[in-house]
Amino acid sequence: MDTEKAKIHPQMVDLKAQYSRLKKEVDAAMMQVVDSAQYINGPQVQTFADALKNYLSAEAVVPCANGTDALQLALMALDLQPGDEVITTAFSFVASAEVIALLGLKPVFADIHPDTYNIDARDIEQRITAQTKVILPVHLFGQTADMSAIMQLADKHGLYVIEDVAQSLGATCFYKGKDRQAGTIGHIGCTSFFPSKNLGCFGDGGACFTNDPALAQRMKIISAHGSAKPYYYERVGINSRLDTLQAAVLNAKLPYLNAFISERREVAAVYNDLLKDVVQVGLPAVREDAWHTYNQYTIRVRNGKREALMKGLEKMGIPSRIYYPLALHQQAAFGRYAPVGHGLKQAEKACQEVLSLPMHTEMSPEEAAYIARSVAGLLKEL
Ligand SMILES: *Cc1c(COP(=O)(O)O)cnc(C)c1O
Repeated sequence: MDTEKAKIHPQMVDLKAQYSRLKKEVDAAMMQVVDSAQYINGPQVQTFADALKNYLSAEAVVPCANGTDALQLALMALDLQPGDEVITTAFSFVASAEVIALLGLKPVFADIHPDTYNIDARDIEQRITAQTKVILPVHLFGQTADMSAIMQLADKHGLYVIEDVAQSLGATCFYKGKDRQAGTIGHIGCTSFFPSKNLGCFGDGGACFTNDPALAQRMKIISAHGSAKPYYYERVGINSRLDTLQAAVLNAKLPYLNAFISERREVAAVYNDLLKDVVQVGLPAVREDAWHTYNQYTIRVRNGKREALMKGLEKMGIPSRIYYPLALHQQAAFGRYAPVGHGLKQAEKACQEVLSLPMHTEMSPEEAAYIARSVAGLLKEL
């Protein structure tokens, strides 16, 4: 046990180890950009857009500067009016709601399924009004939301669907007889290449994807200051480009995305196996129609001892994180959008109970087992 422990230094993510594995390819790709001096809109950006398009089987990919911008570009492309309502989950990273508010639209928060932490389609339906224009589901922690139910609602009420795929690139969802890539079922998918995401670059990066060529063209124009032709501006846009250097890194890493996902799934399998009989722990639920990519491995600590568990783990050198400590409507910045009527009880309860364990592509089964046994052991004592 002590020798096992001596080798094990768990980290939430291990970007350094992943880089050393891919160093040769990534360094060569980056140096090519440095040598070419085509730092903005170099050919690697289009190469990456095409490669991601193929990976996703999507009609179009529009690269941009980060995942938050991707969401903003998607919303701007829909030509919404101030006050239009966008229904999104109350339990997510802030970006999903932030861009809605920034554009003068109204975020309407819906509750989540307690088992998957993803937006609950039944709760969406009761929040639809005459002002509702968009449903913005977030595929949280690596798994898609219930897209069949969401698309059915969208069709029935004539709404757009923007999928936030920042945590789930490479996840799939069975929809209309086929496994589809997360983000290609709704009208627009938006993702992030923040270093710790499923496909991470060496800084910020993002992309929108769509099967609608008109929407793709509009997002492309908006991302380039509203211009299709340099120095002629047809609408008010923003400046949101994917750096050529980041595109080069992504070109080198995209061929490994499926392997990265398998590595995450192997860690999750060890965790699942060793934690399944621990009564105080709720395991991440896996939907039958989905391929979970485990961007996070998030458990529910059911006995109210989450903070004590975190402290105990920390003493053993095991980091853990709370994603997320407050639901979006409980945040100071978004309090004014808290619903007056029916509450968001499951989102609030999740904030009290969730705990994310270390999860990355470089973790050995021994390391995962050590972490899971430590969680189980501590919970027995608490
Ligand atoms: C990371 C993330 C984003 C934003 O990505 P950035 O590239 O950091 O702007 C958006 N939504 C969710 C759910 C995320 O996890």
